[in-house]
Amino acid sequence: LNIYTQNAWIQADQERILQVLANLLSNAAKFSHPQTQVEIDLTAPIEGVFRISVRDFGEGIPSDFQSQIFSKFAQADNSSTRSKGGSGLGLVISKEIVEKHGGSLNFVSKRGEGSTFYFDLPALRRDTE
Ligand code: ADP
Repeated sequence: LNIYTQNAWIQADQERILQVLANLLSNAAKFSHPQTQVEIDLTAPIEGVFRISVRDFGEGIPSDFQSQIFSKFAQADNSSTRSKGGSGLGLVISKEIVEKHGGSLNFVSKRGEGSTFYFDLPALRRDTE
């Protein structure tokens, strides 16, 4: 457990950033195994940047699909009988929202071990500090 004890100020469209977080959390839950945890983490990987990470211990993302994950309508399982719902648009939109905020969205994943999706946003510069 990593507890970030300082305030992490950013300037953002609250609704849009919550939409990104909701998308990552819903994917994490959707692709998790039952009764496993999803972890959310806030860190500052470098000065002036805050990182929000959402980690799951699910099936992970097949390596041959990883390069397509930010393409429209892309889904690892695109069979008509697939068990998970969704449009394949969530990550495309999330990436765009984060980039409009001057940040970036990325992931690391290993088949069978799970995935971590994270996005970095510039810290709000406050001249009073
Ligand atoms: P949707 O979830 O609506 O299909 P997304 O753009 O959010 O659309 O995700 C696209 C695809 O990326 C998913 O269908 C799935 O194959 C893969 N994916 C996204 N998040 C995860 C995750 N946490 N674990 C495994 N696969 C994921």
